[in-house]
Amino acid sequence: MKPSLLPKRQTYYVPHPRYGTQPRLTGLDVENLKDGTYLRCWTATELESWTRKNSFYGIDPSHIGCLIPGTAIVANPSLQVGSSVASTHYYDIERKCRDCGQLFIFYAQEQRYWYEELQFPVDADCIRCVPCRKRSRTLDQLKAHHDELKIAESRTVLDEVEMTLARLDLVEAGIFHPRQIERVRAFLNSHPDHEQTATIRARLTAISPQF
Ligand SMILES: [Zn+2]
Repeated sequence: MKPSLLPKRQTYYVPHPRYGTQPRLTGLDVENLKDGTYLRCWTATELESWTRKNSFYGIDPSHIGCLIPGTAIVANPSLQVGSSVASTHYYDIERKCRDCGQLFIFYAQEQRYWYEELQFPVDADCIRCVPCRKRSRTLDQLKAHHDELKIAESRTVLDEVEMTLARLDLVEAGIFHPRQIERVRAFLNSHPDHEQTATIRARLTAISPQF
């Protein structure tokens, strides 16, 4: 089927900074599944049964985790690692973000970058939209920094401030248990005159009604 004949998808997708907000139509489809044709995560047999179930060109846009017709690109199996079954084609795949629950596209070209250039294992999956991936990375770094300060043999007052701000961020993000708020209060009690105290107190007031 030619890309122009494909129904325009009205679905909202979380924007991807490099690939945009809509599927990237290439006009390529794997129409005749032959031996040796493998899509990422789908062997030919799996795809065949999936195709029968979903009628390949008539996918319900609300169907989550599906291949988007007309978006295939050819893969280079010799560059892929970590799977007994290499992919011969990648498709744009519609996914639902684990963190924010919004739909996003795991683009075929992004898959090629992941599996052929970065050499991620072909089984590695994309479960978050780009903004949530970034946020998740930032929070990971913040937690690592917090943990480093926590085990340090000695800490300056500035270190204490950084730890306290990190605790607030991590409690807000649901990564730290709300009881960490007690440590924030302890900081405020022991440093009532510090220049950051007002900021910390305001943030604490803003989030503590939740707990
Ligand atoms: Zn998200």
